[in-house]
Amino acid sequence: MTAQRPTAPRIDYFALGGTIASVRGDGAGAIPTLTAADIADSVDGLDAVADVRAHQFLLKPSPEITVGDVLRLREAIADVVAAGTTGVVVTQGTDTIEETAFVMDLLWEGDRPIVFTGAMRNPSLPGSDGPANLLAAVQLAASEQAVGVGVTVCLGDEIHAARYVHKSHTSSPATFVSPGLGPIGWIAEGRPVVALRPTFRHLIRHPESAEQPPVALVRMGLGDDGRILGALAGLGYRGVVIEAFGGGHLPESALPAIASLAADMPVILASRTGAGEVLSDTYRFRGSEIELLDMGLIRAGALDGLKSRLLLSLCLATEQDRDAIAASFAVVGSTTGPVRG
Ligand code: GLU
Repeated sequence: MTAQRPTAPRIDYFALGGTIASVRGDGAGAIPTLTAADIADSVDGLDAVADVRAHQFLLKPSPEITVGDVLRLREAIADVVAAGTTGVVVTQGTDTIEETAFVMDLLWEGDRPIVFTGAMRNPSLPGSDGPANLLAAVQLAASEQAVGVGVTVCLGDEIHAARYVHKSHTSSPATFVSPGLGPIGWIAEGRPVVALRPTFRHLIRHPESAEQPPVALVRMGLGDDGRILGALAGLGYRGVVIEAFGGGHLPESALPAIASLAADMPVILASRTGAGEVLSDTYRFRGSEIELLDMGLIRAGALDGLKSRLLLSLCLATEQDRDAIAASFAVVGSTTGPVRG
């Protein structure tokens, strides 16, 4: 271990579990086991970069993380920021990092860096990427480069904006992409570079309750008449995101189910393509985006289905009505300026 510089920046590190914390036990597979202190101690040279304060926050596989956990993490981060931290690093499973980081980005109004990272290869495997990713994340969180850019996800020496990041591969260490944009920066020889800065931060009001209003995410496929949509209200869903074809198109046979759903609850029109904006004024065939928006569906803009689902749930948690929800999507989904719902 290298000696710490006297003026080392303070970095608060919150560990939530995931592959970076997972080791093989007696059975075949790896499970989250290592604590924040274990993980930080395993990274050579970390103490030369920063005074890292390790916080064991959760020890879960990432499918178990809830929006309520993210709200509590935000409170813990607010406390360390008030105590004068330079930046924050969060490690967790990569499976849901694009969702947790996005929720944090919508709710975090501060300028201090919050950097999410994790690992694709657990510490029992050759080429395990956790230590390098944690070191890079701490370097980024300690850097002036990361101030004011919002929440970021940093893996494989690439820096992605939480607003756009997406996990694109089940096992590759280079799994993270930002469709349509690419990373906003990189780490070179331990030096973070943020080459592109997002033009707006999009904030929404912090929900008072940690309860997450349930929102269904439905991806439509060829020949699907949307019969599952009719069951959603009875299952207690408060809203629905539909991942439609291309620019926002659906089969005509699905329109009756969609019309009755839209009369019942907010329905977001997203695209299953994974990049680009949902159209608003290009096609007028039966089931086209013009017709669906006329039926009262709310346009997701450039948000994908996963992120639309979280935004709608947060809007419902702050009791936004349909117009307020549409306004939130117009801003967060189309990068037109800041909003507080
Ligand atoms: N590949 C995931 C990870 O990187 C699996 C486990 C999880 O998401 O918690 O952590």
